[in-house]
Amino acid sequence: MTKININDMLTSYDTKHFTIATVCSHSSLQIFNGAKKEGFKTLGISVGEIKKFYDAFPLGRPDEFFIVDNYKDITKYSEELREKNVVVIPHGSFVEYLGAENFLKLELPTFGNRDVLIWESDRKKERQWLEGADLTMPKEIKDPKQINKPVIVKYHGAKGGKGFFVAKTFEEFRKRLEKNKPYIIQEFVMGTRYYLHYFYSPIQNNAYKLSKGSLQLLSMDRRDETTIDEVQRLGSIAELEEIGIHPTFVVTGNIPIVMRESLLPKVFKMGEAVVEKSLELFGGVIGSFCLETVVTEDLEFKVFEISARIVAGTNPYVSGSPYSEYIQPNLSTGRRIAQEIKFANKKSLLHKILS
Ligand code: AMP
Repeated sequence: MTKININDMLTSYDTKHFTIATVCSHSSLQIFNGAKKEGFKTLGISVGEIKKFYDAFPLGRPDEFFIVDNYKDITKYSEELREKNVVVIPHGSFVEYLGAENFLKLELPTFGNRDVLIWESDRKKERQWLEGADLTMPKEIKDPKQINKPVIVKYHGAKGGKGFFVAKTFEEFRKRLEKNKPYIIQEFVMGTRYYLHYFYSPIQNNAYKLSKGSLQLLSMDRRDETTIDEVQRLGSIAELEEIGIHPTFVVTGNIPIVMRESLLPKVFKMGEAVVEKSLELFGGVIGSFCLETVVTEDLEFKVFEISARIVAGTNPYVSGSPYSEYIQPNLSTGRRIAQEIKFANKKSLLHKILS
């Protein structure tokens, strides 16, 4: 866990009246809705103004807004936010807007283990973690001259698939590569994509048991990515590339999905291994995390990425998923997070799930 001492920070808190807070974007409607269902007050941090669209969704609207000039300023307001008994639920945009460094030193109780960011944002460390857990990742191609099948080229720091490109030959790679931008080359895995939404509780033993705590699978989605997912309406990718139209991988939405049931044991084995390895490496990936996978024609999973907090792919499941329905009706990831905070508070275990 980070250097911030949670118990010290919580001494000034009225722990009977926590306020669940997040940045007004990404999965905020779901987080606020889930927190409300569990009886929490909610607070939305927004830049410049109250976002009007929340008025159209009263059950996903935060009870209060906290307006800042710039997301990076959130660190300056920690004292004010602590006076409101705020517990932060970070999502992908929260971390991106605030910046990793600011996020790591934010003096507010934050759901999950912030140390995970170091392992998730550095591609080498991420590989060390996931391969250390015996997961299969797409092969990395070190020498572009060795490209002899489709590869995906990822620039460092590229977010949400923006700026990735696909190449099938060295020649194509050379033509497309932007100079002076660090990149990695990965085998383009053929198969179908599944984004698996897990929840790991280090303090509850009522699900798939691990060495410490237990694991749930709350849902899964497939991302809708423009233009790759629909470009074939205009012609084959090869045809389009000939006239200089290249597919892109920018996420625009999420599609609900279920997987053949016989694959579920593998899904749990992967989740288990990822958590066990994380406990060994940095104290554990706590709460929600997502494995981004491709299932090949041999029904093998290849994992190309991990997101160590609530992902927007959980948004189709505000009132439960075909998996969470077997845990509890109406259980979203946002609600599950709120339940974990409530449970930990009751058992005086908040220091195990907040950082
Ligand atoms: P990422 O930003 O790593 O989540 O990647 C963005 C998108 O690119 C993914 O959602 C996939 O559609 C695609 N992608 C990334 N890596 C691979 C890979 N190794 N093989 C096939 N598709 C990939």
